[in-house]
Amino acid sequence: MPKVIKNVGCPYCGCSCDDVEVTVSDDGKHVLEVKNVCAIGTEIFMHGGDREGRIRLPRMRQEDGTFKDVSFEEATDFMAKTLLKAKKPLMYGFGSTNCEGQAAAARVMERAGGMLDNCASICHGSSFLAIFDNGYPSCTLGEVKNRADVIVYWGSNPAHAHPRHMSRYSIFPRGYFSGKGHKGKTVIVVDPRFTDTARVADHVLQVRQGHDYDLFCAFRMVLHGHADDIPDVVANIPKEKILEVAEILKNARFVNIFFGMGLCHSDGRNHNIDIAISMTRDINQFTKCTIMAMRGHYNIAGPGQVWSWVFGFPYCLDLTKKNMAHMNPGETSSVDLAMRDEVDAFVNIGTDAGAHFPIPAVQHLKKHPFITIDPSVNMASEISDLHVPVKICGVDDGGIVYRMDNVPIQFRQVVNAPDGVPSDEEFLDGVYERMVELEGEKFDE
Ligand code: SF4
Repeated sequence: MPKVIKNVGCPYCGCSCDDVEVTVSDDGKHVLEVKNVCAIGTEIFMHGGDREGRIRLPRMRQEDGTFKDVSFEEATDFMAKTLLKAKKPLMYGFGSTNCEGQAAAARVMERAGGMLDNCASICHGSSFLAIFDNGYPSCTLGEVKNRADVIVYWGSNPAHAHPRHMSRYSIFPRGYFSGKGHKGKTVIVVDPRFTDTARVADHVLQVRQGHDYDLFCAFRMVLHGHADDIPDVVANIPKEKILEVAEILKNARFVNIFFGMGLCHSDGRNHNIDIAISMTRDINQFTKCTIMAMRGHYNIAGPGQVWSWVFGFPYCLDLTKKNMAHMNPGETSSVDLAMRDEVDAFVNIGTDAGAHFPIPAVQHLKKHPFITIDPSVNMASEISDLHVPVKICGVDDGGIVYRMDNVPIQFRQVVNAPDGVPSDEEFLDGVYERMVELEGEKFDE
């Protein structure tokens, strides 16, 4: 009999939905059906289990350029030796693995004396910089659901990037103090494009691209009582519209501002976020207001938590001194290290740097040993010297993940991975043990 498993977590976006229902085959090897999950999440579940076409053994690059299957022992040995030989290896990724894998990676890179970084450095890393400068007046998504009456999406498009965010947390759910659902909420979208999220908004501010900082300044001027001094149009938005929206913000019961790559990736970067945080504080002079980063992957908040516990820093970690961690984004961030050709071995794990790094950065990384740890074929795996297949967290491996609001959630295993395929944690622990053995043998190639 097929089995229905409830309260399953979806391992895709930062919503980390944990109400998924999965029907698995009686042998526990295949996902047959999924419910309460968006189209993106559905795909992930259908890729898991013991399905045909799944990579089951590590693949090592040969001299003629082809891949040859090798054992997990050989892969473990190759990675341990690569890390020990390198002067400054970099391990990067971690958006799509569990906290147990992130902790194992920290142990390995501390031993290797290398660089350790996660996808935040190309995503919400600028938000971290702003938070270091200006604090983080935030809340949990449960508070949004139960209290919010004004929702702002600034530079984010959840209709495409976080498909159930609006229905689970922000606009549509009926909460304890928000029993009318979307009828009791005002939705404001700020984006240069008229996105699918803008379609459900009450007010759409099509800001001039790259001029969000100007618009934040205008709002802050109004909130501070200097409305007379702002120009007739700011960043493409007429003054009357700015005044109208400022009144809505001031008169709300509970405002939530969600921001995304529109602020992190455009001119100003961390300064767009720190002025957004300042505006949040300004609105708190009139009512309650919180701000939240629309974190991308289901556990990209995880490394920030795990590594802050271990080393005191959330990302861009320099562990080369071995007895003291150092962090300085711009100096110790992955793309900067790659562009300056400062690292001499690269491990891509739980991400696809091949697809998402700038091409010149990938070209630099490719001059040195390049290892990918990933359940599937992706662009990074195809340019790697070694590709190690692993379990898929949330599908054939369980573990702790941190949602975008830093709430930890226990993800469940729903199907069995092919025999012998390890989790990220198991593989990295094996690499750690092999490094200890090699160091005992005075390995020095
Ligand atoms: S919204 Fe995100 S976490 Fe939720 S089901 Fe879709 S992809 Fe998965």
